[in-house]
Amino acid sequence: MGCAPSIHVSQSGVIYCRDSDESNSPHQTTTISQGTAATLHGLFIKTDAADSIPSVIAYQSRHTRTNSHRDRRENSGGHICIEAETQTSHSSVKVSSTEECIGPMRVTQEPIQVLLVFAKEDSQSDAFWWACDRAGFRCNIARTPESAVECFLDKHHEIIIIDGRHSRYFEAEPVCRLIRATKSSEHAIILAVVPHMPQDQEEPSVLPLLNAGFSRRFVENSTVSACYNELIQIEHGEVRSQFKLRACNSVFTALEHCQEAVEITSEDHVIQYVNPAFEKMMGYHKGELIGKELTELPKSDKNRADLLDTINTCIKKGKEWQGIYYARRKCGDSIQQHVKITPVIGQGGKIRHFVSIKRPHSDNNKQVHKISRDERYSGDNSQSECQSLRHKDRRKESVDVRSISSRSSDAPSLQNRRYSSMARIHSMTIEAPITKVINIINAAQESSPVTVAEALDRVLEILRTTELYSPQLASKEDDPHTNDLVGGLMSDGLRKLSGNEYVFSKNISQGQLTMPVTLNDVPPSIAEMLDGEDHWEFNILELEAATHKRPLTYLGLKIFARFGVCEFLNCTEAVLRSWLQVIEANYHASNSYHNSTHAADVLHATAYFLRKERVKGSLDQQDEVAALIAATVHDVDHPGRTNSFLCNAGSELAILYNDTAVLESHHAALAFQLTVRDSKCNIFKNMERTQFRTLRQSIIDMVLATEMTRHFEHVNKFVNSINKPMAAMEECSSNSEGSDCEGQASIRNSPENRLLIKRMMIKCADVANPCRTLELCIEWAGRISEEYFAQTDEEKRQGMPVVMPVFDRNTCSIPKSQISFIEYFITDMFDAWDAFASLPGLMEHLSENYKYWKSLDEMKCKSLRPPPPP
Ligand code: AMP
Ligand code: ZN
Repeated sequence: MGCAPSIHVSQSGVIYCRDSDESNSPHQTTTISQGTAATLHGLFIKTDAADSIPSVIAYQSRHTRTNSHRDRRENSGGHICIEAETQTSHSSVKVSSTEECIGPMRVTQEPIQVLLVFAKEDSQSDAFWWACDRAGFRCNIARTPESAVECFLDKHHEIIIIDGRHSRYFEAEPVCRLIRATKSSEHAIILAVVPHMPQDQEEPSVLPLLNAGFSRRFVENSTVSACYNELIQIEHGEVRSQFKLRACNSVFTALEHCQEAVEITSEDHVIQYVNPAFEKMMGYHKGELIGKELTELPKSDKNRADLLDTINTCIKKGKEWQGIYYARRKCGDSIQQHVKITPVIGQGGKIRHFVSIKRPHSDNNKQVHKISRDERYSGDNSQSECQSLRHKDRRKESVDVRSISSRSSDAPSLQNRRYSSMARIHSMTIEAPITKVINIINAAQESSPVTVAEALDRVLEILRTTELYSPQLASKEDDPHTNDLVGGLMSDGLRKLSGNEYVFSKNISQGQLTMPVTLNDVPPSIAEMLDGEDHWEFNILELEAATHKRPLTYLGLKIFARFGVCEFLNCTEAVLRSWLQVIEANYHASNSYHNSTHAADVLHATAYFLRKERVKGSLDQQDEVAALIAATVHDVDHPGRTNSFLCNAGSELAILYNDTAVLESHHAALAFQLTVRDSKCNIFKNMERTQFRTLRQSIIDMVLATEMTRHFEHVNKFVNSINKPMAAMEECSSNSEGSDCEGQASIRNSPENRLLIKRMMIKCADVANPCRTLELCIEWAGRISEEYFAQTDEEKRQGMPVVMPVFDRNTCSIPKSQISFIEYFITDMFDAWDAFASLPGLMEHLSENYKYWKSLDEMKCKSLRPPPPP
């Protein structure tokens, strides 16, 4: 088998030659025409490199196009450069290029190029020469180290074979080092040809060769088959692997230039790679991240490790996880990101890496700008922010997002606003342990048989509706205002008893009751005022003044009439009037905050919420009536002191209610006592027993829901059971913004979820004062602060523990206390309620008011209003 010698001269005078198979060596090739009789030694082949590189012989696979490769000619320098072609008909000839797959990428491998570095041609170099011929590889021979490097830099051979037998010409190791010093040698396999050892000598170690950069050692053997076997082993092993690795470079190039932030971690979350977009987004240099475990990153980034815990359940099964969360940038700010985490299955079918692809949440763009702007000015400030607890920062963040959007001249669309609320909701509740549990079960359901999935559905049902949520009291806030508010509002009997009995206020003066008014008797100015009751901006303080601190009775008459409460209860307006008056009279006008104006304010907010489309569509009339009654009575006989105070004082009520939800239990119980003890004001007297029982239960549940120790429980349940399932349906359905689909209605209308909606509604109504107009918001802040100050005064006077030391009238910063209250209790709750009920006006006020308190705080102003200009 073989090919005929092929020698011809091109027009340019290049001599093309093909050595005969019969010939044993390139030397023995035939002589040439054109009057230039020459042996192969005297011929040059014009290859790309051969023109300029002395001492290089090139040899080329024959099956490639002849006109693109020329055989031999003598160059002016008299050096040797040979190019030949292998024979396609050769028994072992290979196709010119092969296709390789690396993952989903298909790459074409060009014929392998081999560089022989042999100072002198001999049977060994010839054997490699012919082995290349047989394998279909291109081959160059270089005579000197310099020409070897030059030729390699030109051709980037996959295999380099260096003659290491004759040290009189050159040492193999320095030549290898020379080549390895070039960047492109990274993927080259370098073979050292070493002499045979005499039988009695020990085989030398291969280590010096490896250290010099060689990949393998070949003990001299000048049979073509031995060389051929060596070459194809290298090709099948290392060359193919290297070829695939080289293809990875294109993937890395893509990653380096792509605009999305990419992070690759090991299976145990050690960061292995981040691209420049990631560095830019997070503000870290890759050197600060690579090699670090996610949990080693600054405190707040544990968020991510926590989140990964949750996500692991999903991705550990090889599934992808997508979602939105906040990530901490180096400068201390948070950024809201869309994140997709994909597990990469590797060796042994196991997960070997996680690839996270992140981009800023679209609504976050303005925030990102803000962050970069802040970053320019950030100094110690951002450092200290970094130390604070993540939930606090998260809340700050939420407010920042909104304040930025509202600062912009183009008001954010309703859709964007709701989307960003939802995003915050996702990030907010993902941290709750119960949410992790629900996520895990959800993920398990996907791969479970129907029976198991159904069983898990029931488990989820139980988890969503039973009392498994614990208030987040464990984390210690570093801000004293938040600390005091949390301690003061969210604990009952946790403080040490002082032994000083608080004398519960009994100064209710029935004599203050005036003649009942009817809605028709209401003075025109008040009637006119009440007509505006359906607007959020309704001014309850004007009503308070106009009614001589009887706003609850007047507003109650109006609102109860609008909702048909008397018809539902089957009672007369006169009974309702008496009832409203009794209830109002049992509020303490002496309290600066917890008086009947606060009750009227909560009633107003409740009625406003009840008119919202989604709320209306979720509740029936019994729910509405219960909500209005609950709002009216929810703080009745409030002593102007907190639960903690009553527990510390060992008050009668605290003892009666075992230090548990003392005030709320009292409000609910007293409301029913006051109602049923006198038929004149018993609005329930004509109700059918079972109907009364359900109504009563509903009212009690709502009043108890105003207790702050279970604040996070109620909000989390609402988000998990209502916001999230509804958002999921919204995403699935092609319904346009605002419209409801059947599935959503079924979520809203289930009895369990109606309960959650009612609780959330009264909770929001109860603390809606930061969402009122700025003037009202300031007034309420003044009133609650005064009430807290009075409590602190009394605690000091009585030698009791001071429940909220920051609320000391001599030192308190009211703006700071409002900022803490908003960040800790209000933002997330109203985000969730807004996502459900759609309350753009309220959210706008909240944002404005928050900015107002912030601006006062920045001015170091501690009072309700900025100092008058000098
Ligand atoms: P309630 O006692 O039913 O009105 O429950 C609401 C809780 O939130 C009370 O403990 C109030 O003291 C508290 N609260 C309401 N508004 C504010 C505010 N603007 N600043 C601080 N605390 C507030
Ligand atoms: Zn209240």
